[in-house]
Amino acid sequence: ATPTALMVGTGRGAQLGILIKGPEVLESTRRVDTVVLDKTGTVTTGRMELVDVLLAPGQDRAEVLRLAGALEHSSEHPIAQAVARAASAAGKLPEVEDFGNVEGLGVQGIVDGHAVLVGRTRLLEEWSQHLPSELAHAKEHAEAEGSTAVAVGWDGVARAVLVVADTVKPTSVQAIRELRELGLRPVLLTGDNEAVASKVAGEVGIDEVIAEVLPAGKVDAIKKLQDEGRVVAMIGDGVNDAAALAQADLGLSMGTGTDVAIEASDLTLVRGDLRAAVDAIRLSRSTLRTIK
Ligand code: ADP
Ligand code: MG
Repeated sequence: ATPTALMVGTGRGAQLGILIKGPEVLESTRRVDTVVLDKTGTVTTGRMELVDVLLAPGQDRAEVLRLAGALEHSSEHPIAQAVARAASAAGKLPEVEDFGNVEGLGVQGIVDGHAVLVGRTRLLEEWSQHLPSELAHAKEHAEAEGSTAVAVGWDGVARAVLVVADTVKPTSVQAIRELRELGLRPVLLTGDNEAVASKVAGEVGIDEVIAEVLPAGKVDAIKKLQDEGRVVAMIGDGVNDAAALAQADLGLSMGTGTDVAIEASDLTLVRGDLRAAVDAIRLSRSTLRTIK
């Protein structure tokens, strides 16, 4: 491949809203046969809305929102932003001490003297906070409907489930159809639960889903595909995607995503539109055809 042709390809990429780290990136783009997509913020808008607050017996909705909202105010996760937004609208939020992010599981911190947890059921269970069975059922029901639900607990007691919903980007459906037309195999990879993952996958036409993975699991999932002989592109936006982006043969980040993901990637889709990934693959193929 002549450097000049690759440079021209890189310049054309910029016009298409694709930032390419170096001319050589176009060469790896061409060899890709599998495209792994992060769900939240990549296939979906990542802008969730709080749609329901499910309470354990004897719990107060306003107090749940106030404490969970205060904690989530310190997190950048899309779920956190939905919760914090809804809680702020309901009233002033208290300060948080000792805020901590538990990777892939949720958040913890001290709010108004209470040790509060918000996140996956697993996080609460690690602190022996178990959802009462009716609440666990209501949570499963919400998830089966395709919503995302996170648990809230404090002072040793599971108190509520917050239901949030995210929407697929209108451009994702077309992009994934076109990836298939180019002969690529799309795979949805997410830390979210199976039901939500399957619902989103169904909406965009992906039939291979890897769900409920921790951030370290995302790297392992990429490695596993590579061990099967696949050449893997990974598209992601979050801090939790960075290691997987680096592991992939080609890492693509959303320009709307976190700096960490952008730095770990080879190529950035400036507008956060998945159709630009299709353009990048077409561009690499045509650039390299020109060279031959
Ligand atoms: P994804 O980007 O696919 O959602 P993450 O690893 O960021 O993957 O999160 C995995 C899961 O952990 C989320 O689906 C959610 O259940 C829980 N979680 C992570 N961060 C938070 C948070 N700030 N608030 C509530 N739940 C969280
Ligand atoms: Mg994400």
